[in-house]
Amino acid sequence: MNTKPLPIDAAVIAAAATQYPTPFHLYDEVGIRHAVQRLNAAFAWVPQFRNYFAVKALPNPAILKMVVAEGCGLDCSSFTELFMAARMGVRDDAIMFTSNNTPLDEYRMALKLGSFINFDDVDHLNWLDAQKVRWPEVISFRYNPGAEREGNTIIGRPAEAKFGATRAQLLQGYAMAQARGVTRFGLHTMIASNERNADYFVTTADMLFAVAAEMHQQLGIEFEYINLGGGIGIPYHPDDQTVDLERVSAGVEAAYQRHIVANGMRPPRVMLECGRVITGPYGMLVTRVRHAKTTYRNYIGVDASMADLMRPGMYGAYHHISVLGKADVPASEIYDVVGSLCENNDKFAINRALPPIDAGDVLVIHDTGAHGRAMGFNYNGKLRCAEVLHTSAGELKLIRRAETLDDYLATIIDED
Ligand SMILES: *Cc1c(COP(=O)(O)O)cnc(C)c1O
Repeated sequence: MNTKPLPIDAAVIAAAATQYPTPFHLYDEVGIRHAVQRLNAAFAWVPQFRNYFAVKALPNPAILKMVVAEGCGLDCSSFTELFMAARMGVRDDAIMFTSNNTPLDEYRMALKLGSFINFDDVDHLNWLDAQKVRWPEVISFRYNPGAEREGNTIIGRPAEAKFGATRAQLLQGYAMAQARGVTRFGLHTMIASNERNADYFVTTADMLFAVAAEMHQQLGIEFEYINLGGGIGIPYHPDDQTVDLERVSAGVEAAYQRHIVANGMRPPRVMLECGRVITGPYGMLVTRVRHAKTTYRNYIGVDASMADLMRPGMYGAYHHISVLGKADVPASEIYDVVGSLCENNDKFAINRALPPIDAGDVLVIHDTGAHGRAMGFNYNGKLRCAEVLHTSAGELKLIRRAETLDDYLATIIDED
């Protein structure tokens, strides 16, 4: 049978569903903190290791404070995300700004905050000159390996991905920076998303350290940091394996020895930008069944929609579903679990074997802690749901209220 344990006690989820109107995302503080601790422990060999939590995965200050307290920095890619970091008192080297097609005001904000900046394009440096905006002290580029690597389904093949610069462009960009007297450098890549193959990250590290060594040999550059990006996957499906972080770390360390240490380079920091592996498994969308209907298929209509979780509709992503209180009931029925948007891809599950479901049942949609509510939208005038935190002390705390009609109307300019 396809079973997947709930990340927290069913009784706690049931209590939350009594206390707060459904739907809402429920996050578990203990799980999130442990996830940061596991990553930090796995990379303990790295001088000043740091994971910069990708704010876009779960942009809620209550969560960001937690991961920062555990030693994370924040990876931002928009003005709003930079603003949120600053508002929490996070700045300087605790912010990694990894953007693309970057607006000027975002560069200005990132510079003001003293953050690390990964340039998506070498030409942005010339553009900053033209706009009379200074360069950051540390110059770092995002590398796109092109046909050299495969990528994966969510992020696409590097050769077709809009991100980053070619190897020749990197050489040119670093040389240009050196000519201007820049002495501090970083290097970045991010070429996979939700990747569960540990060796993929090792290959990426091997590739990026080799690029660093090449820049060192050709230009004499010593890198301050090498940022391997995010993208560590999580087991959404009960058959999926958890990524073996120790295996990733050991492989990255061997590649570090091979390229960095063996070439006599000054040892750079190694950094990550993981979001999903930190919060993904420790969030769930709690939703109540509104209607059941049978036509050519059996439909279970819930009070959440794609406005609250887009991944199934957008990527066909699998999210496990548990029916609260029916853990021991055999999955004898086949259902499509659907929202209420006027879009046929507004489905959380298609042809899913589940126990018999009745109106009023509470469904738990697993693994919504990253790229869940954050991706939501207001199509059909649907209002995005609330966020509730289950704290380490065992309390339930509302950390974002649901949107209201007033929120939706706030941007409208009426003619009369
Ligand atoms: C989305 C993103 C991340 C985080 O990805 P996860 O899959 O959540 O680990 C990190 N860095 C950049 C540049 C991103 O776009």
